[in-house]
Amino acid sequence: MNVMKFGGTSVGSAQRIKNVASLVSSRGRNIVVLSAMSGTTNQLLKITDSLKSGDISEASTLIGQLREKYSKEISELIDDPAYRDEALSKIGGIIDSVATKLDKKIEAIDEKEIVACGELMSTNMMDCYMRSIGMNVAFLQALDFMAVDDQGEPDLDYIEAHIAPLIAINPDADVYLTQGFICRNADGEIDNLQRGGSDYSASLIGAAVDADEIEIWTDIDGMHNNDPRFVEGTKPVSKLHFEEAAELAYFGAKILHPTCVLPAKNKNIPVRLLNTMTPEAPGTLIYNTEADYKIKAIAAKDDITAIKIKSGRMLLAYGFLRKVFEIFETHRTPIDMITTSEVGVSVTIDNDRNLDAIVEDLSAYGAVTIDRDMVIVCVVGDLEWKNRGFEAEVVNALKEIPIRMISYGGSNYNISVLIRKEDKQKALNLLSLHLFN
Ligand code: ADP
Ligand code: ASP
Ligand code: MG
Repeated sequence: MNVMKFGGTSVGSAQRIKNVASLVSSRGRNIVVLSAMSGTTNQLLKITDSLKSGDISEASTLIGQLREKYSKEISELIDDPAYRDEALSKIGGIIDSVATKLDKKIEAIDEKEIVACGELMSTNMMDCYMRSIGMNVAFLQALDFMAVDDQGEPDLDYIEAHIAPLIAINPDADVYLTQGFICRNADGEIDNLQRGGSDYSASLIGAAVDADEIEIWTDIDGMHNNDPRFVEGTKPVSKLHFEEAAELAYFGAKILHPTCVLPAKNKNIPVRLLNTMTPEAPGTLIYNTEADYKIKAIAAKDDITAIKIKSGRMLLAYGFLRKVFEIFETHRTPIDMITTSEVGVSVTIDNDRNLDAIVEDLSAYGAVTIDRDMVIVCVVGDLEWKNRGFEAEVVNALKEIPIRMISYGGSNYNISVLIRKEDKQKALNLLSLHLFN
């Protein structure tokens, strides 16, 4: 059995939902995981923002827009009046649940409940549509099996134990359908796996049921060798090692959620990135691929802050780095990149919520300087250091660009450079030109 996850664009209109149903029904009995229709999660977040700022009239306008959009899509999607009315009533009920929040002071749990509605709506529409065309759908509610612990980490044992019986009682289903993104937290409340988290749902479900393959169906034919939003003429990469895919996802390749690789890797389940618009394209296979000593792809992560701590006094005496890292740990701020010298350390963070407190604590150890609006550009491939020249090629390609930090050797798979935001587009294009042409 495979897991097939369809992203927002893939279910972005009545026609696309029909295409997905037909694609799914041609591929045998699999688990289908859906995101919200594209734009819906953002719209739901706008509703929570208006509610938080007390703008009830804006919130009800936005809710009205949702009602209109969904009743139009459902009318276009389902011909059979019985199934169409069922869908209208189910989606209407979900939107009503959002509208009940207009009358109250909204709290964190209300926001989570509102933002969960996107996946509830898309899957209910798909369920009614598939049944209307005669498919035998087992509709699995993610809220019955997808759970995170008190640290927000998915509880794979729980997921395994709770999804298995839901599948077992439906042995004859043509398809198992469920929601991505949404889950329950340790208090049993509705929660989610963060923006873009449907990929993570798919990979957790794949790991939980020991799937043969996890397919991430999206709007592009696989992982490209550079970010197609900034570079023209990028090409799909046919194979990636799990580690390479993880580096690319973490460092900004939006096609894959950063956390999605690990559950698949731990269970040795191949992940395939495929295009809903051209299903016959081979896409990208992510697996324990053979070493091939090649640079595969480039990604960029925005909104990075660099922090330098410089001191004349034997800064790197033993114990010093521990003290620096402890400060970041105390302020619950992950570090992405590190470079060191005898007199200083530079690190980068992508979450500057606690920056002031971090700087204050670091100041006890030396002069602290900050560079904001930086970008990590990450070159990924099978870059084992004994195969000379990878870093030289990267630095050479970027010789016109001021580089604030360089990091290589943390793994065999990544060379990262830190540059200014305004140089990002040029840097990505120069790298493509030099590394892939
Ligand atoms: P979905 O809604 O299906 O989850 P996403 O929008 O999250 O889709 O991811 C697909 C998008 O990721 C593509 O449309 C593309 O613009 C963007 N993207 C960024 N980097 C890459 C890359 N290296 N390869 C392919 N797509 C990428
Ligand atoms: N609908 C959610 C989002 O837009 C989850 C996802 O699409 O993966 O972030
Ligand atoms: Mg996505």
